[in-house]
Amino acid sequence: MWAWQCVLGGYGARDSELMTLKAVKVIQNADLLLYDRLVSNDVLDLVGPDAKLLYVGKTAGYHSRTQEEIHELLLSFAEAGATVVRLKGGDPLVFGRGGEEMDFLQRQGIQVKVIPGITAASGIAAELGIPLTHRGIANSVRFLTGHSRKGGTDPLFVAENAADPDTTLVVYMGLSTLPSLAQKLMHHGLPSNTPAVAVERGTTPQERMVFAELKDLADKIVLVELVSPTLIIIGKVVALSPFWPQTLKEASFLVEVK
Ligand code: SAH
Repeated sequence: MWAWQCVLGGYGARDSELMTLKAVKVIQNADLLLYDRLVSNDVLDLVGPDAKLLYVGKTAGYHSRTQEEIHELLLSFAEAGATVVRLKGGDPLVFGRGGEEMDFLQRQGIQVKVIPGITAASGIAAELGIPLTHRGIANSVRFLTGHSRKGGTDPLFVAENAADPDTTLVVYMGLSTLPSLAQKLMHHGLPSNTPAVAVERGTTPQERMVFAELKDLADKIVLVELVSPTLIIIGKVVALSPFWPQTLKEASFLVEVK
């Protein structure tokens, strides 16, 4: 059997409670677990005594294995008859290239079973009390990648499509392109005082976050030196969080929730 499983958690996170029961069962029965850097130690402890663990994670600027190598590894173990679990952070099919791995394996005749996980947007929004689609405030939510072409500073997508005050924007992998994205969104009509938050290592004990209006967010992130993995949420619903600082002055400050 092939199974993919997914867990929300920053690297080194202690909290494994956001996993589904289905995922726990699959991990316990795995012969081989391939995991990346967003998977916590608690989760790795779930594997059986004879199971093998293989790290295939990537960090910005340093790829321990290429995507093609990961594909080949998955294929060779599957063909050898092992019960292989490919563990990915969050939901396996939300960014993170899970779809490509699934597609590759299916083309090779391997049966792939996908187990859904709590994506960073859902886990972090829930924890902060941000209702992503609050009635009357946001009628849609959009997950964006902040990735740029060839490592530049421009995000891949067209900001004018995303500049809608009634849509909540959730930006994955968006730290380096945020200055450009924020400028473009404001240029295309998103109010500069739109509430926003950046959350580093959300749902883990090391979590740090910065609330600010859109026009100030990029500067505040630099000030407190947030690093990856960080998720950015932009939209009026952010101000509904009980953690949203009430005065504009406070809004720029780093908030320690724990
Ligand atoms: N499949 C994952 C996303 C992989 S892309 C999911 O569904 O959540 C990796 C990006 O996800 C990171 O750069 C960051 O933007 C976001 N992310 C994942 N886990 C996170 C966490 N614990 N805290 C903050 N951002 C996180």
